[in-house]
Amino acid sequence: MSGPSIKLSSGYDIPLIGLGTWQSKPEEVVNAVHSALEAGYRHIDCAWGYGNEKDVGEGIRKSGVPRSEIFITSKLWSTYHRRVEECLDQSLTNLGVDYLDLYLIHWPVPLNQNGNHPMIPTLPDGTRDVDKEWKLSDTWKQLEALVAKGKIRSIGVSNFSEYNLEKILPTATIVPAVNQLELHVFNPQHKLLAYLKSKNIIPQAYSPLGSTGSPLLKDEDIVSISEKHSLSAADVLLGYLLAKQIVILPKSVTPARIVANFKGAQEALSKLTPEDVAKLDGLAAAGKQKRFITPPWPVYLGFEDWPQPYPKPE
Ligand code: NDP
Repeated sequence: MSGPSIKLSSGYDIPLIGLGTWQSKPEEVVNAVHSALEAGYRHIDCAWGYGNEKDVGEGIRKSGVPRSEIFITSKLWSTYHRRVEECLDQSLTNLGVDYLDLYLIHWPVPLNQNGNHPMIPTLPDGTRDVDKEWKLSDTWKQLEALVAKGKIRSIGVSNFSEYNLEKILPTATIVPAVNQLELHVFNPQHKLLAYLKSKNIIPQAYSPLGSTGSPLLKDEDIVSISEKHSLSAADVLLGYLLAKQIVILPKSVTPARIVANFKGAQEALSKLTPEDVAKLDGLAAAGKQKRFITPPWPVYLGFEDWPQPYPKPE
């Protein structure tokens, strides 16, 4: 009923299917979380930055599913890299829980905590106000200390390229359990996935359906595979990622879609053939490569498939 799971390097199991909550309005997300838990989801992906953790917490309590049966993730917002526990404590209070299953560094880009905005501070030229003096390895040390304190079970990163992972790995005493990335058929990141595998870091797919207004759901190659197996295009997109042992975080506030994504992903996993997966693996290289999430951080992020005008620092 609760779906497939995979073991993290921390020793904890993570359900492979989680509900995404970005852009879910507070008044919608209570019901979305409740519907998901009723449908069998046992994993909810949250973030301080989504501004709806209080409502996610309400949905969890409304469902009646015990806290111990639910895998809850939240993320450190970028203006809190120097004060990780402060951000974590706000998420714990908002969600109404006393520990998190997984806590991620949301972006490898510390922002000025004393800038002109508490969430997205900007410089006079309009670019984001990056805290260039702060080291990611020091953020990571603070996350490690919070594991020791019992407030977090597993820790990981998000939007980290190999370049950014190499900034924390040499001094890490805990290897990140996961890296949450934009992963879908148009952005498969094969090279980064191979690197993560070599480090035993589990990939999590955000925007697995191609995010809001996704063109993937109408793509002729995806639709043709879905028709062949009597699946929806969304099922194929999700089943493809499950077949690669990638954690999926489809977001929906529509109860029928929440149920369909949970069932359909697993049905697609059992129906997709190795040839289907190989075909989907090759779509990006065949000219369909596309990212949907492109925030204008004015720093080098190190993603080969994420062209940015910022040069690699010396
Ligand atoms: P998704 O790829 O999950 O797509 C969500 C969109 O697809 C919504 O518009 C939803 O509509 C629609 N949808 C959902 N199911 C179906 C379906 N079966 N058929 C048709 N349309 C459907 O996008 P997100 O960008 O939200 O990514 C998922 C999650 O990943 C986020 O919610 C968040 O938790 C995480 N994330 C993390 C990021 C990071 O930086 N770490 C960045 C971005 C996302 P509706 O809700 O109206 O049903």
